[in-house]
Amino acid sequence: MTDNVINWALGSDGIVVLTLDDPSQSTNTWNTPFRQSLADVVDRLEADRDGYVGVIITSGKEVFSAGADLKEIGPLMDRADAAEIATFFDHAKALLRRLERLGKPVVAAINGTALGGGLELALAAHHRIAPDRPGIQIGLPEVTLGVIPGAGGVVRTVRMFGVAAALTNVLLNGTKFSPRKALAAGLVDAVVDTDAELLPAARAWITANPAPVQPWDRKSYTLPGGPVTGAELSQQVLALSATLRKQLKGADLPAPRNLIAAAIEGSLVDFAAAETIETRYLVNLSLNPLTANGVQSFFDLQKANRNDYRPAGVAPFRPTKVAVVGAGMMGAGIAYEYAKAGVAVALKDISVEAAERGKSYSRTLAEAAVAKGRWTRQRADELLNRITAAADDADLAGADLMIEAVFEDPGLKKKTYAQVEPVLDATALLASNTSQIPITGLAEGVTRPEAFIGMHFSSPVDKMPMVEVVKGALTSRESVSRAVDVVRLINKTPIVVNDGRGFYLTRLFMAATFEACEMVADGVPATSIEQAALQNGMLTQPLLVLDQVSLSLSRSIIADREAETGTDKRTAGEGVIIRMVDQFGRLGRAAGAGFYDYADGKRLTLWPGLSDAFGPARDIPFQDLRDRYLFRVALEVAACLQEGIVETTATANVGSVMGGFPAGTGGALSFINSYDGGPSGFVARARELAQTYGERFLPPAVVVDAATNGTRVGH
Ligand code: NAD
Repeated sequence: MTDNVINWALGSDGIVVLTLDDPSQSTNTWNTPFRQSLADVVDRLEADRDGYVGVIITSGKEVFSAGADLKEIGPLMDRADAAEIATFFDHAKALLRRLERLGKPVVAAINGTALGGGLELALAAHHRIAPDRPGIQIGLPEVTLGVIPGAGGVVRTVRMFGVAAALTNVLLNGTKFSPRKALAAGLVDAVVDTDAELLPAARAWITANPAPVQPWDRKSYTLPGGPVTGAELSQQVLALSATLRKQLKGADLPAPRNLIAAAIEGSLVDFAAAETIETRYLVNLSLNPLTANGVQSFFDLQKANRNDYRPAGVAPFRPTKVAVVGAGMMGAGIAYEYAKAGVAVALKDISVEAAERGKSYSRTLAEAAVAKGRWTRQRADELLNRITAAADDADLAGADLMIEAVFEDPGLKKKTYAQVEPVLDATALLASNTSQIPITGLAEGVTRPEAFIGMHFSSPVDKMPMVEVVKGALTSRESVSRAVDVVRLINKTPIVVNDGRGFYLTRLFMAATFEACEMVADGVPATSIEQAALQNGMLTQPLLVLDQVSLSLSRSIIADREAETGTDKRTAGEGVIIRMVDQFGRLGRAAGAGFYDYADGKRLTLWPGLSDAFGPARDIPFQDLRDRYLFRVALEVAACLQEGIVETTATANVGSVMGGFPAGTGGALSFINSYDGGPSGFVARARELAQTYGERFLPPAVVVDAATNGTRVGH
């Protein structure tokens, strides 16, 4: 037998300890060798029922089991063969069903993260115990990848908690619980303080429960809260749909819809039929090309986070002191992140008072964490002690990483480098947080251009998950590698791109938000402008986000553009921003007035004056509004690929999703390739939009070529 993934050890107490320990990889997953091993183990357990008294499943790795193996599941989804997918999941379900009906106690000793299929394995045990160790995650996050659990996860949680509780607490959010929270949610039955107590606790439970039966296999079983039928059922469906709409802010995503259907329909039938229903709803999702895209982009994201894009052969870099120059909105957030990661930070502004104001941002966040009981006072104090508020260059002495976040003015930035560089460590990595000024030009301000790089954070820094790393013409491979390490140090995803005005993320950001301004100019009601973005599943409402980053910043970007390419190229959307700032003095959220009104920093309603200021109203189909966003961003992504700003399809897709493109599409290039009719269908629709709304919708050559040749955009 292939017992090399699941090690079998029968103890003198008659308990079989099954240890998941995949020799072929660093983590345990539901790959082919595992499925084969599980089948062998279940055969053996059934064949020799008198040879043991109980079973403990545990892991020999840091992770208990990470669930599906994306290397196998990705191509499976891509082939979209309904029968093959159904067989794959039915096989897994059947093994777990046999495991829980051995007539012998099975305990899952969850000594590491158990997600997706990993937790589904544990749910087929009669009892689940986990140690209270930080970092362990327990949950069914499938929905966040655009799929649903397929190894009985929906069927068993519905039978454990009832339909509404299973959906709202476990399935629909895809929450990853800590052991304590998993205990509160009922996903595990007991938590022990240390790993050492885990196996003894499992053994004790087996001794006390020699022949357990799963609740749903007992004659007396009823669904928690009772089965829901008739009028009550319709009411529950309505309530769940309303919760879903609120949670997704109107985005229309198939996975949560199928999840609700599988849970409700499965609750009305017996276990076996419920399992068939679960598989069918999963197969249904798998046949949608967007599902494979979503899985692929999740895989790409994991690769980015595992440093797969980090140039090989360069020693890992961990800074000992960070000089953050400019303590405004961005500098304050960057200082907080590095102090939180345990690095000393010198936060410099033009006066100590200004630097202290920047530091107070960290104080506010740390105090809030203490108040909520998430942090100890000591942790908060230590974090704050790592930040020195400075106005003197001498305070930056010896820093081996500089991140500059002064005003968006190339002259000021270069002057700042000239002043600061001499006091820094001679090998320091020199980074600018500029949102759009080309890095190659800024590097003229330093003596070591090979050490100069863009590190473009997004606002708010402590919430946004990515940092765009921009390579200048002279930036060395080593500096790129060091920048990637510095981004991973604060647990963010590096998106590595080439230089050019606006790089990658600012161009995507502007494509979406300036399209919203075009809609304002077209006289579209502002609520529809925001709503179309939400229904697409985009991360933010464009007018709101324009206010947040400040309209004055957009105004200055337009001024820069006009200085380069002239005022006669001014677009209607740019005209809206210019008038908002110059004519109406509405500079954005911080100024208390933008596309929205604000009072005491709180958002009120959209500015009622908007419809009088712009227009006249034009009747535009809602689907056109939705498509205008998707196409503008997708076209910009394709242009960035064509220009070499992004080098790989994976970077283009992952970066676009992190930059706000709907995650359910798997990224902007996947959106083009999976559009109805493929790239040629996309081109046809783009040309239609160009005819009605302007030339900005004309597709670039990379897309037209793919359409003509019947290939894909990107790889
Ligand atoms: P901000 O106006 O909030 O802060 C800039 C700070 O720099 C101010 O506190 C100012 O006093 C300080 N400063 C000016 N000259 C200085 C000098 N010579 N030495 C030290 N400090 C000096 O601006 P911000 O929004 O934090 O933006 C900073 C940079 O980050 C800009 O390059 C901007 O383009 C970029 N950026 C901004 C955002 C955003 O959403 N606002 C996002 C990404 C990148």
